[in-house]
Parts: sequence; C-alpha cells; structure tokens
Amino acid sequence: MQYISTRGHPDRKRFCQILLEGLAPDGGLYLPESYPRVAAATLASWRELPYHELAFEILSLYIDDIPADDLRAICRKTYTAQVFGTPEIVPLKQLEDGVLLQALSNGPTLAFKDMAMQLLGNLFEYELARRGEELNILGATSGDTGSAAEYAMRGKRGVRVFMTSPKGRMSPFQQAQMFSLQDANIHNIAIEGVFDDCQDIVKAVSSDLEFKRKYRIGTVNSINWARLMAQVVYYFAGYFQATSSNAQQVSFAVPSGNFGNICAGHVARMMGLPIGRLVLATNENDVLDEFFRTGVYRVRGSQDTYETSSPSMDISKASNFERFVFDLLGRDGAKLRYLFAQELVAKGAFDLSADIARAREQFGFVSGKSTHADRLATIRDTWERFGTMIDTHTADGLKVGRERQLPGETMIVLETALPIKFAGTIVEALGREPDRPAKFAGIEALPKRVTELPADAGRVKDFIAAHCA
Ligand SMILES: *Cc1c(COP(=O)(O)O)cnc(C)c1O
Repeated sequence: MQYISTRGHPDRKRFCQILLEGLAPDGGLYLPESYPRVAAATLASWRELPYHELAFEILSLYIDDIPADDLRAICRKTYTAQVFGTPEIVPLKQLEDGVLLQALSNGPTLAFKDMAMQLLGNLFEYELARRGEELNILGATSGDTGSAAEYAMRGKRGVRVFMTSPKGRMSPFQQAQMFSLQDANIHNIAIEGVFDDCQDIVKAVSSDLEFKRKYRIGTVNSINWARLMAQVVYYFAGYFQATSSNAQQVSFAVPSGNFGNICAGHVARMMGLPIGRLVLATNENDVLDEFFRTGVYRVRGSQDTYETSSPSMDISKASNFERFVFDLLGRDGAKLRYLFAQELVAKGAFDLSADIARAREQFGFVSGKSTHADRLATIRDTWERFGTMIDTHTADGLKVGRERQLPGETMIVLETALPIKFAGTIVEALGREPDRPAKFAGIEALPKRVTELPADAGRVKDFIAAHCA
C-alpha cells in the first residue's frame, strides 16, 4: 500500500514513512492511493472476530511494512478489556428501537480519542525502537487530545511528550487527569495565555527547522493517518454488533469537530461496509453543517468561534476535511491544491455547490446542528426515559441523528466522551453530579506535575532543550 498527498505531490510513501510525519511536503494530507475493498465473504468471516483481531485484519490492508506477527502483537496489546473496560471494547447499547449508542469512551481518558491514540503509542514505540530514534512530541491542548496523547505515550521508550495548555482554563477534572501523571517522559506546560497562544507556540517552535531537527520534534495531531485508520475499526465493530447479516445496513451519527471521526466512517463505507448514511452533527460552530447544506465551505476566525458546552467540537476549520473533498472531487490533486492553498487562503471560503448533491447521494452524508438548549434537553430526555447519562458531545450526535433518521433506519450514535468530563453541564441539565468511574476517585487531590511558563516560544524551547539531555 502506497500513500499519496491530497495536493498531488508525486511522491509515494509507505505506512511507516508517514507514521511519524504530519503534513505531506506540499501541505496536503496523506491518504492511501486507493481504498481496499472488502469482499462479502471476507466481511462475513470478520463478523465473530474479537476486536484486536478485527483491528489486525483491517490494519493489515493499510500496513505492509510491519511484519504480520508484530502488527498482530501490537493490536493484541492495545485493545484489551483491561484498558477499555469490556471484552467488546466498543459495546452497543440500545436506547429505543433503531437508536443505539456505541461506547467509544471507556479508555484511559474517557474520550474516544483513546481508541486511536493508544494504538499510536504502541506503533510509535515499535517504529522508533526499530530505527533507533527518539521523538519529542510537542502539542497544544484545551482538553481531550492532550490527555489522550499523554496516556498513550506515558512510559513509552523513545518518546517524550511536551504538552502545552492554557493555564487554569481546562476543567478541574481534565487538569487533574493530565497533571497527576508522574511519568518521567511526560511534561505538562501550563502557558499563561489562551489556547491560541499555545497553538502559536507550537507553530513557532515547529517552524524553527534547525531546532525541530536537532530535538526531533513531532506531533500527534488529528491529521495523522494512523489515527484515522485506527478509527475505521470501530465502525466495523459497531456494524457487526448491530446486525446479524451483511445484507443489513446501518447509519452512524457522529459528533464532529475536525472531521477525523466521521472521515474514518467515510473510509469504512468506501471499503464496502454497508453504511447507509453518515450523519454529521455540529454544535453552534457549524462550519461543516453549513457545507453539507449549501456546498460552501467558509472557515471562521477565532473571534467567530464560540465557546460551547461541547468544547471538543469548537472548531473554526476542520483539519481532516480536505480528505473528503479529495474523494468528492474525484481525487484531483491539482484542484485540491487550488482550493486549499489559494482560494481558501485568499477568500476564507470556497464553493462546491455544484458537487454537494453527490456528497449526499454518492457518499451518504447528511448534517445537522445542535445548540446548548438542545444538549440540555437531550441529556435530560435520555436520562428520564432510559436512565442513561450521556455527555454533551454525544447529546449533539443523538439530537441530530434522531432529527435525520428515516423510517426503518438503524442509527448508531457514537458516544465520544463520558459525562464526568463535562460535569458542569450535566449538573445544569439534571441537577446532579455525573457518576465517576472508580479509578478516577479523588484525582483532583493527587500531587500535580506541571511547569508554568509565559506565552513565549523561546522559553518553551529552553524547557524542551533542558529536558532532552
Ligand atoms: C475530538 C472530539 C470530538 C470531535 O471529533 P473529530 O474527530 O475532531 O471530528 C467530539 N467529541 C469529543 C468528546 C472529542 O474529544
């Protein structure tokens, strides 16, 4: 399997070459040069596999430069009931006829990003050992991504994590999750500023190419193909649990921000998994809903990006979206380069209204939007009618999934986080605190390991240099 850039660069790369990289050299995103099609007999033979074996089968289609036994061992070590809470790893729960929740948030940080990041940690450790190299991961987080990265990389040989976050702006639970880690290779840096300051620092450090090379700076952001590929697996696992034969179809409702999660659903559908429709849910930050309604992709500035009660979906431009546009426009790299490197940069928008009908008909996409009032109502309704407590992001997915559901359609709503991570809104909706998994009892009281620094890239560089000895 070879990988290509969405912007038409002539290079072809193999999986392990793109594993530790971010963007392609032309600024595009990596994608496999074609999607492997899963034949009906193969799909049937996967139906009863345990999750780690299903992961191995799917990953094998995309990775041909890791020996099969090694890849099998990596999958087995990653997807265990001990780490993810149940033998099914991603169990389904029926709410009512035709509406199911798929639990993706029972990993170490209680959000679905663990599903991919835990695999990434093991792949990084394996590949770095094979090369005899080290990697220093530098990131910026306002919550879920940073903690998922730290829990995936803690204790891994050859990897250090330097994670910046805006001082005092994460929820107390999220701060406790990250800052209580005592592993020597995990470094929390609280920046005196806002999330944008953290992102600016990461950009400034990464664009100092000499520093980047000398200290082997890398990232684990959501454009990494390996993360997306890992997420493809749970669409298959959800499908198999919801159906008894491959003649059946299901649809998925996906709370979306950077378009990573739903893009994995798109890849699964392109591989031949019988997915009817992919229902994309946004919150008040509705860049993607606007696109799927009108065909116009209009990114927003940070002053037009709202802080909402589903904060992991507060995005102004969706970093994985380019992958879908590549497929929608018949994989025309030159056209993608024009749209993303010129039109979008010059005008902040592009118009694909001539193509948008195909996004629905050929690719199965539909969308909708959910507001704070919708979240409160959905959380309350789900609790009162089914005794199930859902988080704010999942509520956005459930609200839009129901709104778009057709008669007879089976809708699997992806649960992307547990309610304990967003306790404030749960209390507002239900007047009671969410349940806390036992392993997180009292974490706010644990000793914290964090360094506070001013919003100054130079000071962050000094800190990295001092901890890479
Ligand atoms: C990251 C995240 C999302 C958005 O997922 P994308 O892949 O960025 O679309 C939704 N919900 C939660 C809880 C998240 O952490």
